[in-house]
Amino acid sequence: GFSGLHSAGFSEFLLKEEIMNSIHECGFEHPSEVQQEALPQAIMGTDIVCQAKSGMGKTAVFVLSVLHQLETPPKPISVLVLAHTRELAFQIKREFDRFSKRLEGVKTEVFYGGVQISQQITVLKTPPTIIVGTPGRILALARKGSLKLDGIKHFVMDECDKMLDQLDMRSDVQHIFRLTPHTKQVMMFSATMNKEIRNVFRKFVQNQVEIFIDDESKLTLHGLQQYYVKLAETEKNKRLIDLLDALQFNQVVIFVKSVSRAIELNKILVECRFPSTAIHAGLNQEERINRFKSFKDFNKRVLVSTDLFGRGIDIERVNIVINYDMPRKEERAEKENSGSNTYLHRVGRAGRFGTKGLAISFISSDEDTQVLNEIQERFDIAVNELPAMINISTY
Ligand code: ADP
Ligand code: MG
Repeated sequence: GFSGLHSAGFSEFLLKEEIMNSIHECGFEHPSEVQQEALPQAIMGTDIVCQAKSGMGKTAVFVLSVLHQLETPPKPISVLVLAHTRELAFQIKREFDRFSKRLEGVKTEVFYGGVQISQQITVLKTPPTIIVGTPGRILALARKGSLKLDGIKHFVMDECDKMLDQLDMRSDVQHIFRLTPHTKQVMMFSATMNKEIRNVFRKFVQNQVEIFIDDESKLTLHGLQQYYVKLAETEKNKRLIDLLDALQFNQVVIFVKSVSRAIELNKILVECRFPSTAIHAGLNQEERINRFKSFKDFNKRVLVSTDLFGRGIDIERVNIVINYDMPRKEERAEKENSGSNTYLHRVGRAGRFGTKGLAISFISSDEDTQVLNEIQERFDIAVNELPAMINISTY
């Protein structure tokens, strides 16, 4: 059993019937712990700061509560959702579509950089109800006067620590925030929230309810088996291919440290006839989303990725994550535990919503070993050497 699940059903939240029907259609039977805690508050329009580990279903908290609160007929541009990556924004739009299918007149559009702004300006001529986007592009559209934010009633930030950590993005978010009305519901979500960043969050909210499902130190990723493989840099490719042959995977994500390595490794995997694709910053936006879609729709089963892809992304069928390159220590120099943060968000791609999963990390340098030790300490877990045989029923 998955301890994150509560036995009560969604019906107790007294959501609109059209939404309830979509919830059933999506196969959600019981709310998760974070949904149980946050939904009743969120539905009332209360400001919310909410932390719960990856895969616990935070998206549905804001999607359902926002949809429930929309007026009938819905007013254009009443909801703004900000996300730190294009893929996450795209995914959130899909979630709104899924749950609003039966709500008349509710339309969601997504806006991010890398797409021609003129095209987006045209889309906004018929203003949708819900706007999802990355901060840079949303601000650009608002400054051009194409996106009017003075009717926003619900302001959501997903993976908000990631957005507010990066100072240029934080400044964009603050500018956007000031363009919205003073009275609105603000909801902020993240898998990790350290003490300093909580104080940054509190500047955006009023009379908020704060929900912390997990102490950060306890983010052990329930159901996930974690192993390492010690090897030389030059042995990585052969070992990876052996593993992919031996393991039973639905879908696997392989993390590497650079664009060039993503391209190179993907090429090798395709040559070895694995249904592989790669996502990295070297691609144009359209291609990035196309590849993401083809992986999400199960047309590809292996994804090679840089960290660009990690945080917040949900692929239901990923059961194996491989750290071909370990996260680097100095990745976020201002933070302690930076490598372990990245690790948490990478391996969180497997074992979503309490399903089983397997994470394998290649260790090929002293720095890798240090990051691995940091991970074991921080999450209070033992990551063991990958055994020659693992029982496939465990991942
Ligand atoms: P988080 O944002 O907390 O990392 P997501 O919102 O991405 O998590 O949800 C993870 C996965 O769990 C998604 O595939 C989602 O559809 C699924 N999920 C969420 N809530 C439920 C639920 N109550 N019952 C079944 N599946 C759920
Ligand atoms: Mg999320």
